[in-house]
Amino acid sequence: MPVSGSEIVKMLPGRKPCKDCGFPTCFAFAMKLATGGTTLDKCPYLSAEVKAKLEDMLAPAIKLVTIGTGDNKVQVGNEEVIYRHEKTYIHPPGIAILISDKETDSKVEEKIKKINELKFPWVGLTLKAELIALHFESGDKNKFLSLVKKVYDSTSQGLIIISEDLDTLFSARDICIDRRPLLYPITKDNIDQAIPKLKEKPTPVAIRGANIEELIPLTKKLKEAGVDEALLDPGSKNLMEAIRDQTFIRRAALKQGFRPLGYPTIAFPCFMSKDGLKEALTASVFIIKFASVIVLSDFDQYSLLPLLVLRLNIYTDPRFPMAVEEKYYEIGEPDENAPVLITSNWALTYFIVYSAIEATKIPSFLCVKDTEGLGVLTGWAAGKFTGDSVGAMIKKSGIETRVKNKKIVIPGRVARIKGELEDALPGWEVVVGPREASGIGTFLPEYIKSLRK
Ligand code: SF4
Repeated sequence: MPVSGSEIVKMLPGRKPCKDCGFPTCFAFAMKLATGGTTLDKCPYLSAEVKAKLEDMLAPAIKLVTIGTGDNKVQVGNEEVIYRHEKTYIHPPGIAILISDKETDSKVEEKIKKINELKFPWVGLTLKAELIALHFESGDKNKFLSLVKKVYDSTSQGLIIISEDLDTLFSARDICIDRRPLLYPITKDNIDQAIPKLKEKPTPVAIRGANIEELIPLTKKLKEAGVDEALLDPGSKNLMEAIRDQTFIRRAALKQGFRPLGYPTIAFPCFMSKDGLKEALTASVFIIKFASVIVLSDFDQYSLLPLLVLRLNIYTDPRFPMAVEEKYYEIGEPDENAPVLITSNWALTYFIVYSAIEATKIPSFLCVKDTEGLGVLTGWAAGKFTGDSVGAMIKKSGIETRVKNKKIVIPGRVARIKGELEDALPGWEVVVGPREASGIGTFLPEYIKSLRK
């Protein structure tokens, strides 16, 4: 539950506007604090006690947890809304593949290959699963530790260590500690033994309870011990219970500001169904209904891609269209005689036009004008694809130093900017492309070929 400026100001020193924080009044400082625009340390007059209270009030309602390191780190939590349309979801759930130490060597190899190689290019992004969950099932500690070492050595992804045996859990943790593994499960039965080891080498953990109520004293105990990077598993036994529990936890954290449940969650479709299709469907529900880490027993390209696309759609900010960077792009290896075309930076337009040009096999330059993610015609209507602004973009982009033949093709739908663009770009010939080329690109290939004749 976001804290308001008026709640914060009651706790500030209220010295006659000393302005030492850089704001004219305590109230202005409080308002900025509430929106995350400044930090507590800017006011030097806060007592340690008040500072601690304010830090707690200003902390995100759902704790940010990091699993893994470097380019392969997965951050979850920090969500601010129940429903995506209220604002946006922030951190997409990490998707993990489960590897048990009871599986054959060839199966383990196959799963490692999948996590390393199953990657899908998608509107300028690369979609993939990010995590590997290693499950101690065999009862043979040495066998499990060899599996952990093997996976650690042959991958760079974040790891989840699953072991009911605490000693094995921490021995496995020590093998891959530099990769910030997630340890699971911390329960009411092992938490007291686990806390000293967690304090010694801080590692994110996932807490398992028989139900939501059982999680509450466990998160409190961990927090008191200074171990605060945790995920919650409310022990849901089926999909109905899972939806109920995930929703309850999210609402308690965001609507009631209930700190003991202010943590991201972990879900195990892998343990909820033996049928691959049902498991994938269950995972899709968890993507929509608030899980932050989702563990699958296995996947292939046909079951993984739909989940990754669903995740992308749910976690794309609905307030902003997907857009690409404003600059000129090279398609093939264009030389100084290559055609120059321009379009808007709405990702859909860009990729369709890019693909249409690529299909001609004629090396070209494609200039992309920032229209804040609008299509060409809508961008023009909003004043973001005018002759002047396109001309300024062309000059700024540096394309003029790359081409001898100064001829630029504009989308037919905005033929009306031709005159203005000619004025803005002296020395350039402005050619009106086919009308459809603004977004659909239907006639673009033939048109580009005709330019070379
Ligand atoms: Fe108020 Fe502190 Fe800012 Fe001074 S420095 S105006 S006391 S918030």
